[in-house]
Amino acid sequence: MSVCQFIQRLLNIKAFSVKDYTFRNWFTELWLEVKPFKNGALCPRCNRRGKIVHTVETPRIWRDLPVCGRQVFFIYSPREIICRTHGRVQEFIPWAALYSRVTYRFEYSLLVYCSTMTQKAAAQFLKISQSTLSDLLHRIITRTRQGHKVRNLRSIGIDEISYCKGHKYATIVYDLEKSCVVWIGKGKARDTIDTFFRNELSNFQRGRIISASCDMCETFIGAIEKWCRNATLVLDRFHIVKALNEAVDEVRKEEWRKASKDDRKALKGLRWLLYRHSSNRTEENTKSLRSLYRGNRRIHRAWILKDEFEQFWEFKDQASAKDFLDSWYKTANRSRLESIKKFVKTIKKHEHRLLPFVETGLTNAISEGINRIIKIVKNRASGFSNLEAFSDLIFLTVGDLDIPGQIPAKFHAL
Ligand SMILES: [Zn+2]
Repeated sequence: MSVCQFIQRLLNIKAFSVKDYTFRNWFTELWLEVKPFKNGALCPRCNRRGKIVHTVETPRIWRDLPVCGRQVFFIYSPREIICRTHGRVQEFIPWAALYSRVTYRFEYSLLVYCSTMTQKAAAQFLKISQSTLSDLLHRIITRTRQGHKVRNLRSIGIDEISYCKGHKYATIVYDLEKSCVVWIGKGKARDTIDTFFRNELSNFQRGRIISASCDMCETFIGAIEKWCRNATLVLDRFHIVKALNEAVDEVRKEEWRKASKDDRKALKGLRWLLYRHSSNRTEENTKSLRSLYRGNRRIHRAWILKDEFEQFWEFKDQASAKDFLDSWYKTANRSRLESIKKFVKTIKKHEHRLLPFVETGLTNAISEGINRIIKIVKNRASGFSNLEAFSDLIFLTVGDLDIPGQIPAKFHAL
């Protein structure tokens, strides 16, 4: 076995061959002269052999996966050929995508690393700078998403996310059946969401949407009611629970402000406890909440109301759910808690968009799950300065396209 063959075996190079090797930069870089395997040159579009007419003078360089701390580069001068069908084209390069400066398996590893760790760590593993990494990532994702269309959208979710410290927002559209993100647009105004419906979906596709879910903001409600003529609009459970939690927290804050130093001790640690769903509480938690009955009546009252409201999601038919809501409103309005009363008012206004929940069975698990992943992505990067970088990672982790899967399977080496 020659050294070149040995390197070829060692680096698991299959579809092409290694002609020569050199070490450069005090053995930190391994440069391999490679060549597409067969004699002659193939057309990249039809895979038939073409007549070689020209060899590119300056050789091209591709970065491959590093091996044991050594950076690996491929070097080759591609040839131009005449294909009988496609005319003059550059020959087929088996190890990398057209115009790419890195090999397929490098791209694959980059995608997998970026979906599980910080870009800083991924850059260290791949021995490239962080800016090169995010540049490469953007190119790969743009390439794989090119010409990609929204397909089979029947259940749509719309939400807004902030992607930068300060107030920069993006609108994000989910497919609730496939639980993935299908579109991201800059801003959270009506224009943004209208752009999605106008440009991304055909009239037929808009008609196929049977259910839609969003938060209580008028922008999204208005857009859904305008564009999705056949959809039942259901308000997202996640956002309603959040609104109620905030109302309860408002009560807690008020009481905190009023309390004396000693009383405040008793109110410590309540914030997260009050947020918890009853099924996520330990007995100890419930006990300390119950003790509020003696400690602070107003917070206790707010908590009881919040816990009672959980029952709403369990109903299976609209009539009994409506009865429940009516009696809950009554108790809530008697509570003399302003923030809770305000919540009642909002819910009452949107009641007809809330009640279908019990029959459509649209769960919030999906959008909540996606939201959680997006939050992880955001925290991992500790904020994004531009939306492109953020959407790249969203599409990579929860997009409607398996992006690493778009790379030919034989290059899925890590
Ligand atoms: Zn061809």
